[in-house]
Amino acid sequence: MRQTIFAGNWKMNKGVAQTREYIERFLTHAEAIPETVRVVLAPPFTALEAAADHLYGSRIDLGAQTMHWEEHGAFTGEISPPMLAELGVTYVILGHSERRAYEGETDDDVRRKVAAALEHGLIPIVCVGETLEEHDAGRAQQRVVEQARTAFAGLPAESLAGCVVAYEPIWAIGTGRNCESAQANEVMEAIRASLPGLADASILYGGSMNADNVAGYLAQPQIDGGLVGGASLDAEQFRRLIENALPGAGGSRP
Ligand code: PEP
Repeated sequence: MRQTIFAGNWKMNKGVAQTREYIERFLTHAEAIPETVRVVLAPPFTALEAAADHLYGSRIDLGAQTMHWEEHGAFTGEISPPMLAELGVTYVILGHSERRAYEGETDDDVRRKVAAALEHGLIPIVCVGETLEEHDAGRAQQRVVEQARTAFAGLPAESLAGCVVAYEPIWAIGTGRNCESAQANEVMEAIRASLPGLADASILYGGSMNADNVAGYLAQPQIDGGLVGGASLDAEQFRRLIENALPGAGGSRP
């Protein structure tokens, strides 16, 4: 079901003490966020338990930044879906371009992770996005559709409708060079049309989103929210971004 979602991907930032402090500050004014908006915070693994404690009883959901597809076994350094579920994690970011680039994650790895997440009741936030080279060659839609089709291969349409996709042009991540909103909207239209079920999934934009440009994205019909890196690291900034997303709407989006 399409929902307005803002997920803060903290990447490799903030330990336990900083996580506690952030959440206390974020929750102080969180009542200004419309009830229809889902907010997800994705701290590093080491801060998940502290974040879960601090978020208990709030409307904010907990997310993880990746996971392995296996439940347990000889996978040194990895974290499994049931380990995340046990901590109260609801969402898991999968296939982020940084994991694809630095950890060699393939489209097929992402497919296994998506299936495992769903099996364990976790909501996958599946990242797709093209490189600058692919973008300049006019191959953005082709590349992200290919990524989406592989990531969701073999899953029924009902499962896809419950997933979240994040369209993150790689050249826009952490660069301050955000993708024009109408252009992002067009790519998302192609993603929605690529598989049955995705028409009803929530699709987020990610790539240098901030409090000043967020409303332009949310005004586009295909864009349901944001996966936010840099601008989610400060509690006030992230809260302001979410408040600016739907000016005057009072949370009336689906
Ligand atoms: C991200 O890493 O998912 C991201 C969108 O980062 P940023 O907002 O910093 O571009």
